[in-house]
Amino acid sequence: MYNVMSPKAEEFISHEEILESLAYAEKNKSNRELIDEILKKAKQRKGLSHREAIVLLDCGLEDKNQEIYALAEQIKKDFYGNRIVMFAPLYLSNYCINGCEYCPYHAKNKHIARKKLTQEEIVKEVMALQDMGHKRLALEAGEDPVHNPIEYILECIHTIYGIKHKNGAIRRVNVNIAATTVENYRKLKEAGIGTYILFQETYNKESYETLHPTGPKHDYAYHTEAMDRAMEGGIDDVGLGVLFGLNNYRYDFTGILMHAEHLEAYKGVGPHTISVPRLRRADDIDPDVFDNGITDETFAKIVACIRIAVPYTGMIVSTRESQACREKVLHLGISQISGGSRTSVGGYVEPEPEEDNSAQFDVSDTRTLDEVVKWLMEMGYVPSFCTACYREGRTGDRFMSLLKSGQIVNCCHPNALMTLKEYLEDYASPETKGIGDALIEKELDVVTNPKVKEKVKDYLANIHNGQRDFRF
Ligand code: SAM
Repeated sequence: MYNVMSPKAEEFISHEEILESLAYAEKNKSNRELIDEILKKAKQRKGLSHREAIVLLDCGLEDKNQEIYALAEQIKKDFYGNRIVMFAPLYLSNYCINGCEYCPYHAKNKHIARKKLTQEEIVKEVMALQDMGHKRLALEAGEDPVHNPIEYILECIHTIYGIKHKNGAIRRVNVNIAATTVENYRKLKEAGIGTYILFQETYNKESYETLHPTGPKHDYAYHTEAMDRAMEGGIDDVGLGVLFGLNNYRYDFTGILMHAEHLEAYKGVGPHTISVPRLRRADDIDPDVFDNGITDETFAKIVACIRIAVPYTGMIVSTRESQACREKVLHLGISQISGGSRTSVGGYVEPEPEEDNSAQFDVSDTRTLDEVVKWLMEMGYVPSFCTACYREGRTGDRFMSLLKSGQIVNCCHPNALMTLKEYLEDYASPETKGIGDALIEKELDVVTNPKVKEKVKDYLANIHNGQRDFRF
């Protein structure tokens, strides 16, 4: 029985409700009147239900599809402006006791090089990331209570926040580790993490169990209810995601929106972010073995429809996607991207040789952070290294209300410009710096409050003169 308020996975993600929604969308995919009605509701920028959103995803009317794309682009601009938040993943350990069929870290893979960073190695990796200009990390690790217990993860977080190297600093550490207990989530919160990210992989219980035949991750309910436990442990920024390519995309699209609705109804705060990873080739993983791959066009439509359905959420695309694909989805709703990423343990200090590869998957976008920053600015985006909301305690519903208040132009925009200025002063190539300084000058006009604008100008001058870390 479907119940958005239920604490039970199989009730807030109801299989029957998903199947009925898919049938409803199939029946109505050319129903112009209904699609117009849904678009009218979407234009109020308050989001859509999973059932309304799947009708838009399935919509087969070309003119309406163009309207969907245009609306997604407009909503993205209204909520997030032209800022794109930058981050990088940091792989701590690829020891894992799970049997995930799509991930080369699976326990039966005896061929992959297993590695776990020591605290000294973490310092080196983080200094390499700081020297690129990163301020925000997503920690990644396999699940292994012996090699990577929670104490190890906590120690790594502590080490990372403590590293001060030249003008560098990691100011926000997000964490993507296996589902765990309320008590462990509380410890992560106390360690000062930003977002807790956990991908559902697929919301279809049967496929989920087949894809995770062994290990603790096999437990569908424990995994699906993890965000509720994280919030109970005090973490109020959580990040959802499914791995597109594993299961039918329409099913998982509906499932992820039901999960977002559950968090909003049951916990009072929807997902801080939604990620849209797609399955990639990796060590002993051939993505062609899975028959649910999606085209770039379907991928773009998924991004647009999530943006319309959950207007307030941050949306993340990683370097799993190519430059061309990233360019397309940036317009349609993406607000955060990674740059210069390495998916191997220790890969920032030393890129790994082919025969000793610990990478989780092949990256498509292999450009440096400087190249990505320059590319974004040339398209008119403002790359942002901002971490202010989290550091000012604007998390959970406090972040959401800022977003919904429209004051973001006088808060997030100045913060984005100031952190970009830091990047340009400390890490950019001369060409990128030239483009960036001109962009900042132009983007100051977006700040509407004259007092804030004057202050930003002062802060920018101070940054040029060597001071760091200003924020609103
Ligand atoms: N071990 C944790 C867990 O099970 O949630 C951390 C996750 S893992 C380091 C990060 C994510 O990478 C996974 O949740 C999965 O969605 C994704 N992933 C695994 N194999 C992949 C592949 N071959 N291609 C693309 N993404 C993959």
